[in-house]
Parts: sequence; C-alpha cells; structure tokens
Amino acid sequence: MENREKELLENIAAVNKDIADAVEKAGRKPGSVTLMAVSKLHPASDIEILFRAGQRCFGESYMQESLAKQEELAHLDIDWHYIGGLQSKKAKYVSGRFCAIHSVDSIKLAELLNKKACSLGVVQNILIQVNTAGEEQKSGVAEEQVPALIEQIASLDNLKLTGLMALPPFFGDPEGARPYFARLRMLSEGMEKLFGIKLPELSMGMTGDFRVAIEEGSTMVRVGTRIFGQRSG
Ligand SMILES: *Cc1c(COP(=O)(O)O)cnc(C)c1O
Repeated sequence: MENREKELLENIAAVNKDIADAVEKAGRKPGSVTLMAVSKLHPASDIEILFRAGQRCFGESYMQESLAKQEELAHLDIDWHYIGGLQSKKAKYVSGRFCAIHSVDSIKLAELLNKKACSLGVVQNILIQVNTAGEEQKSGVAEEQVPALIEQIASLDNLKLTGLMALPPFFGDPEGARPYFARLRMLSEGMEKLFGIKLPELSMGMTGDFRVAIEEGSTMVRVGTRIFGQRSG
C-alpha cells in the first residue's frame, strides 16, 4: 500500500472510532452522526482513496476548487457538501450541485440559490449558518435573525431547509466550544417548536472538538485536519 493511502486509511479509521465512542458515551443511536471529510486544499486523489475505503460524504469550501474536483471525480457517487463562505454572485455556480449547502446566512443568498435550483428543476438542501458567538468577523446570521430567515426561506419552493450549522470560535480546550454547540441545539429545538417543522441536521464539530459536538447533539461532524493532515495555503 502506498504511504499516503496507509496514512489516510489509518486516520479515518481513528476518527470513525472516536465518533462511535462519543456516540455511545452520549447514549445516542449508533450511526446517528455522519462524518463529513473536509477535503478543501487536498487533492482529488486523496478523496478517491477514501471513497474506495467507504467514505461517501465530503465537504469543500472554495467554489472553483470544489467544482474542479467534482468534474475530476464525476465517475464516483460522492455526497458533496458546500461549507465555505458564499458570496451572492457565486450562488448560481453551487446551487444544484451539492447534497447540501451549509453556509446560507442571508435571504439574498437564499433567493439566488432558489432561483438557480428552480431553473434546474431541482430542490436544493440548505442549512442556515448561525454565528452563535456573535463574532464580528465571521459569517453566519445572528441568533435573533434566524426566525425571520426561516420564515422567508419557507416561501422559496426550490430550497429545503434541513438544519443549522455553526463554526464556533477556536479554543485550545474543546470544552470551550461546548456552550456554543449547546446554543445551536437549543436554537434548533426552539425553531422546530415555533414553526412546527423538522430540522434534522445539526452540522457542528471539527477536528479539535467533534467529540464535544457529538455530546451536544451534532448529526454531522466536519473533519479535515485529523484525516488529511495540515492544509497548505
Ligand atoms: C475547514 C473547515 C472545517 C474542517 O476543519 P478542521 O479543523 O481541519 O477539521 C470544518 N468546517 C468548516 C466550515 C471549515 O471551513
């Protein structure tokens, strides 16, 4: 086996084991957390290795890079997720091409995604990215604005809101992120009650803190570095 292949397979096996452990410790159902392998800035060949080993869900953050990889790997039935910041003018390039777009944070962006999905005759799954810590430099909508955004999105027929996503501040100690994960879960439960809808997905937890995120109810963890190693660039 090539070195890179060995490294990737060992890494993802260790992550899957940690996820299963955390799920069990939290008393949750086995298989209730999906691993998204965040492959941004790593080559398509790495994705292909992991796909052959059974990994299906991959996350990308950069529009051009993600579309180039989709083309290169079109022969594989990959579940692509878009998790990067998205300028409105780029919306038309991603809508209809991903299982879910996790970074919707404005009605303008939602409307443009909806328009493109409509012209393609598809329904695009989306998540609302919430800025749970109220960090100024970060994308994501403020918690108080989530109800209004959900209401507006509800009128867009070619979008399906499947859940909420958050990217809390980085803490050396993963416990630091716990309150933000808990807030996202409570917000999601509150919105389900308020609108009588289901928001099955909670996209939260990365390399440093996915165990804590799982304890707080994450259904999809987005893990890059622990699988692929450091990103260059
Ligand atoms: C890059 C990225 C990740 C993965 O981060 P790691 O710390 O490498 O696991 C997760 N979520 C988002 C939104 C990202 O941009």
